[in-house]
This record gives sequence, structure tokens and C-alpha cells, in this order.
Amino acid sequence: MPKRVNPMAVKANDTYDVFEAARALKVSPATIRNWIKDDLEAMTASKPYLILGSAIREYIRAKKASARRPLKDDQLFCPSCRTGRKPNGMRVTLSAVSPKTDILKGVCEHCNGTATRMISHKQHKALAATFRISTEPDSKA
Ligand SMILES: [Zn+2]
Repeated sequence: MPKRVNPMAVKANDTYDVFEAARALKVSPATIRNWIKDDLEAMTASKPYLILGSAIREYIRAKKASARRPLKDDQLFCPSCRTGRKPNGMRVTLSAVSPKTDILKGVCEHCNGTATRMISHKQHKALAATFRISTEPDSKA
């Protein structure tokens, strides 16, 4: 699944053949065919296959949702990498965002961007064994 496919690029009540869908979504026809092989509902009784816009939207949304995998215990979420990453040196800073929730911030070991993770107070103990948590702003030493 290409990462930035916009489900709103197709109209819910229109039908698309493979090429029209590919053009609208700025992906290759092969990608659309793969989606049909995968799970995208298409009218395959006759050729060209037709796909309802709403089915395309549903498929893209479902794929995006399943791509949001939970983070491993030793990861923060890096928005630049769009995935879970370990912080440099396992160092994170902690700040409160609400009475029950804190945010961990670290430096992505992969791209040096800021990676974050929302945690509940209940998770502190477990995460303190994994991360080197400080409540001070990073000194950049
Ligand atoms: Zn990163």
C-alpha cells in the first residue's frame, strides 16, 4: 500500500475500471490489480473489472488502519519514519499531558527526528526498565 493514497480521490458513487482508479489515486494499474487480488471488492463478472468508489475508499481505510501497528515495548513513534523506532541511547524525556497521561520524547535512532509515545501512569514502571527516562529537558550533551 503506497503511504499517501487519498481515499477521497475517488467518488463514492462512481465506478472505476483499473486504469481510471489508478489515475484518480495516482498509483499504477498494477497496484489496483494487486488490491483486487488482495481484498478490494470489484465486479469481476465481466471485463473490464469495475470497482465502486466506496469499495476503494473502504479498502484504503482498512489497509491504513491495519498498518497502524502497536509499538513494541522499546519503541517510540517517529512521524518522519512513520513507524516505531528506538530512541538514541534509549534516552527519553517525560512530560505530563493530563492527570493520567504522559508523553515520552526521544530522538529517533534512524532519522534523528523527534519520536514520541503517549503512555499512561500505569506504564511508568514497566517502561522505566526499558528507557532511561528523565523529566528534565534534554541537555543535548
Ligand atoms: Zn525516524
